[in-house]
Order: sequence, then structure tokens, then C-alpha cells
Amino acid sequence: MDTKAFKRSLQQSENYHRKGFGHQAEIATQLQSEYQSSLIQEIRNKNYTLQRGNVTIHLAQAFGFCWGVERAVAMAYETRKHFPTERIWITNEIIHNPSVNQRMLEMKVEFIPVEGGKKDFFVVNSGDVVILPAFGASVQEMQLLNEKSCKIVDTTCPWVSKVWNAVEKHKKIDYTSIIHGKYKHEETVATSSFAGKYLIVLNMQQAEYVVNYILNGGNREEFLAKFSKACSPGFDPDKDLERVGIANQTTMLKSETEQMGKIFERTMMTKYGPTELNQHFQSFNTICDATQERQDAMLDLVEQNLDLMIVIGGFNSSNTTQLQQIALERGIPSYHIDRETRILSGNRIEHRELNGDLKITENWLPDGEIVVGITSGASTPDIVVEDVIEKIVELKATAVVV
Ligand code: SF4
Repeated sequence: MDTKAFKRSLQQSENYHRKGFGHQAEIATQLQSEYQSSLIQEIRNKNYTLQRGNVTIHLAQAFGFCWGVERAVAMAYETRKHFPTERIWITNEIIHNPSVNQRMLEMKVEFIPVEGGKKDFFVVNSGDVVILPAFGASVQEMQLLNEKSCKIVDTTCPWVSKVWNAVEKHKKIDYTSIIHGKYKHEETVATSSFAGKYLIVLNMQQAEYVVNYILNGGNREEFLAKFSKACSPGFDPDKDLERVGIANQTTMLKSETEQMGKIFERTMMTKYGPTELNQHFQSFNTICDATQERQDAMLDLVEQNLDLMIVIGGFNSSNTTQLQQIALERGIPSYHIDRETRILSGNRIEHRELNGDLKITENWLPDGEIVVGITSGASTPDIVVEDVIEKIVELKATAVVV
């Protein structure tokens, strides 16, 4: 399929909407009351620090809702207002945050059901409204919805669209897109649907495996087995790694994407020589500013003398996991939770480990004076952060009384 031509014709369709419906002012107050927090504003005004009883909170200087997420949530609210009676669907969680997604359900914005790991679009009828989330949707899904004559409201973040443009460019010049990301993540699924030949590389360990194959060859079957779910159909590692371009899932750790770009650039330079480099390697900085800012703020925060960290964000939120990784790498006791109810009674906390497992840790809140670092991922509303801070302060106050 000519994905670029399809996208262009879709954008000209009267059923396609990507700029909102002019109800911004009306929904602004509603969004503010549902997601903003006066406590968080107070902490911002006090140089990102709060002192309550024997608890000192240091908040990261960039955290929470990013521009792309705010825009997507606002567009979803606007969609409900603009189509008050139509059935409204969303192809996936609007963003990776349970409270926002719960709110969508309350507003009768329904999720496409998933049967046996596959989305069942049978439920969607002509004339229904379908929202595409901030991290986008695959071109096949867009095509299907277009054929069904649905009204499509596309909230895809422009940063994600920028990556799609990059892989389109690789395809045009017959380069393989090396996508730094998680092959199952919806954004990467969408990005790979616009790519021609692609290979999805999760981390530096995999990148090193690939560059070693480029330089020295290797076991082709092993290569194909390793990337069986992470490459384009018919991918041939002996032919399709001669010309590569870099792209990424926008929420991956920036330093790792850069490292990955460098290792591929060096490899192509070694194999083909500096004068031929441009014929074999295309770099592209596609990491979004929001991810970058939150990671930089986290790096500053972990330099402070913290007793523990709380990282708040959806359990399937990639950028939140990256923030948690930074804290753990510094050896700081850090707990990734998605809402304040994960803080259980009796000094217990239920949190997500880096490998995705849920764990309950006992005695996580130390006695006496404590300094707690707090941050949240790009899909977390301020109100959720406020709830967590209030719960910690309340627990500590109760402990003092006892
Ligand atoms: S994290 Fe970045 S790419 Fe993702 S929605 Fe926010 S601004 Fe867009």
C-alpha cells in the first residue's frame, strides 16, 4: 500500500478531523477541574518543594501531562461535545493512564473490544465516531475505519507523526528503518505500519548483536528467530542491513536512542568508509521534547539527597518506566505506582517492577524525617500526583501520632 498517498487522501476526507471542533474554551474549565491540582501549583510556586510535618517532598521540575497528551485528552472531550448522540469509540487507551481512561468510559467513549489479542472492529458501524489516541494507530486500522465510513478524530501527537515521516523517508530511499522501541507498544506498531523494511531494536544489547552481524555476519536463523516479531515480513539480515535509518518510539530513553544511532553510524562507517557513510546511514532525532525534559528533570532530582522516590504513571506507560529506571540505576529505593490506592495500609505499597511484575513491599516508608522525590510520566494528571502526596503526608502524620 502507498501509505503516504493513503494518509494524504484520508486527510482530505470530510470524515477526518485532526484539529478539534472549536469547543476549546468550553471544555477548558472542565479539564481544569478534573485534572489540575491547586496543591501541585503551590509546590511549583515554592520551587518544587513542599514541607509538611516530617516529610519533605521534592517534585521533579518537569513531570506529568505533556503537550501531546493534554491535546489528545482535550480533543476527546471536544469530540464528545461535538457528537453528543453518536456512538464514540477509541482504538486504544487515549493515553496510558487508568483514571483518564476511566473518565472516557464514564463519558461513554468506548474502547474497541479485544478478542484473543486482536481488536474486533466488527462493533464499529458506519457513521460512528472513532478517536485515534495520542500514540497513533496503524495505517491498516485507519484504512479499515475509512472503508467503514466512520468519522475519524485523529489525536496522534505531532511528534509521533514526525517519526512516521522519517520512516516514510527511509522507505522512499530504500533504507531499512531501525526503530528503537518495543515491538508490542501501540506507537511502535503504528510506526512500523508506515515503514517499508524495518527492524525493531529494544536496547543496546540487541543493537550490539545487530551491528556485530552487519560487520562479521553470523547465524542467520538465530538472527531471524531473535527478531521474529520485530521485523518486516521477509526481512533478510544479509541484504536488508546495508542501508539503515534510525527512528524511535518517542518515549524511549533519549540517551539510549542516541547511543544506538552512534553505534549504527560507526558500524556503517567502519564497513563502508567515511565517504560512503551517507549512502548507508540516515540519522534522525525523533525523541520528543517532553520525554527529554522529564528525563533531564529526573536526572537532576536523583542528585538530591532522597530517602526514596515515587514514580507515578500508568503501568503500560513506557516513559514512566524509563523514569523509574533512572532512579533504580542510582540505587534509590523507588516505587512505580499508577494511583494513590497502591499505597496500602500498614506501611505496604503495591508497585510495578521494571520487568512488569507487581510486587508488594513492606516497610517502604522510613521512620522519622524523610525526603521523598516525586515525578510522574507524561500521561499522568496533576490531581493523581496530589493524591499520592496527600497520602504519604497523612501516613507519616498518623505514624507520628501512634
Ligand atoms: S510524550 Fe511526546 S510524543 Fe508522546 S504524546 Fe507527549 S509530546 Fe507527544
